[in-house]
Amino acid sequence: MAIQRDYYEVLGVSRTASGDEIKTAYRKLAFHYHPDRNPDDAEAENKFKEAAEAYEILSDPGKRAQYDRFGHAGVNGQGFGDHFRSAEDVFSAFGDIFGDFFGFGTSSRRRPRQGADLRYNLHISFRDAAKGTEVELNIPKKETCPECAGSGSAPGHEAETCQHCQGQGQVTQSQGFFRIAVPCPVCRGEGSIITHPCAKCRGLGVTQTDKSLKVRIPAGVDSGSRLRLRGEGEPGEFGGPHGDLYVVIHVDDDKVFARRGQDLLITVDISIVQAILGDKIEVPTLDEPVTLEIPKGTPSGKILRIKGMGLRHLGSSAHGDLLVEIQINIPSSVTKKQEALLREFEKLEEDRPMNKVKDFFKKAMGD
Ligand SMILES: [Zn+2]
Ligand SMILES: [Zn+2]
Repeated sequence: MAIQRDYYEVLGVSRTASGDEIKTAYRKLAFHYHPDRNPDDAEAENKFKEAAEAYEILSDPGKRAQYDRFGHAGVNGQGFGDHFRSAEDVFSAFGDIFGDFFGFGTSSRRRPRQGADLRYNLHISFRDAAKGTEVELNIPKKETCPECAGSGSAPGHEAETCQHCQGQGQVTQSQGFFRIAVPCPVCRGEGSIITHPCAKCRGLGVTQTDKSLKVRIPAGVDSGSRLRLRGEGEPGEFGGPHGDLYVVIHVDDDKVFARRGQDLLITVDISIVQAILGDKIEVPTLDEPVTLEIPKGTPSGKILRIKGMGLRHLGSSAHGDLLVEIQINIPSSVTKKQEALLREFEKLEEDRPMNKVKDFFKKAMGD
């Protein structure tokens, strides 16, 4: 640690300064070098701690007398030294000194805090996810009580200042050389006591309501997609902003379509004859059915692609494809006549010139 400056010099007061003068000088410095006003400024933070340490000694008549006689050595270990790692620690120990004087950041209870984020699980149908939709959500929401404007007191009444902590919300306990601020046990850190609670919110200052909210679900969302609605979360405290609302999408399965990213997959059955001879068939899409040409000799499991008939890519007008998986339907039984024809077919197949050539090569290779 650097050479310690004289405490009177730190506070800018004379050696004969009264307790009030010391207090006033300290408040001025603490206000000026307050970390909330000097974010990420190490020098300001040091000045702030230095002032707090000087005040800790000079505001206590016994320690001040020690200091006047012996200097820093006389109060060694009685100031903060390195016991407090941050200005925050200094504050938590001394919040009661400034309390309401600054109106900001002096204790955690008065610090503006952002409201909590809310999560809403939304189940939508496959078709709604594909096409996009607008839904109306009923969100349970805490709102500032309209009856008491958040004060918690019935109209015509006000919360009374807590006598135990003089409205500071904190009380100081001595622990060795240190004074530690803890939340006031009487008012639970609020600084005031509600004597006539508001009937609507029972003194809480907030009410639970169902807020209806229209949300546009863009086409192409998938399970796990999150929509963030800024400022639709819970209200902040002490002037802090609202939290956000996250709508988490869960897409139901569809009877017809499966999803592969932004592509859609369907399976269609065709007959052996269609597979061999080719055909034109109708396949369903998200809109009207379209005609698909089955090429001659299509094997089972073949996937035919219809461009642009899949799902929309989020944030773009491009679409995925529709993948049509061909499944050949094998009849489990045939009539006598069908069987006769199939035997005939097989015989003709063996007699085909192409197959004769194959047989010739097989023999030539000694197979
Ligand atoms: Zn109320
Ligand atoms: Zn209290």
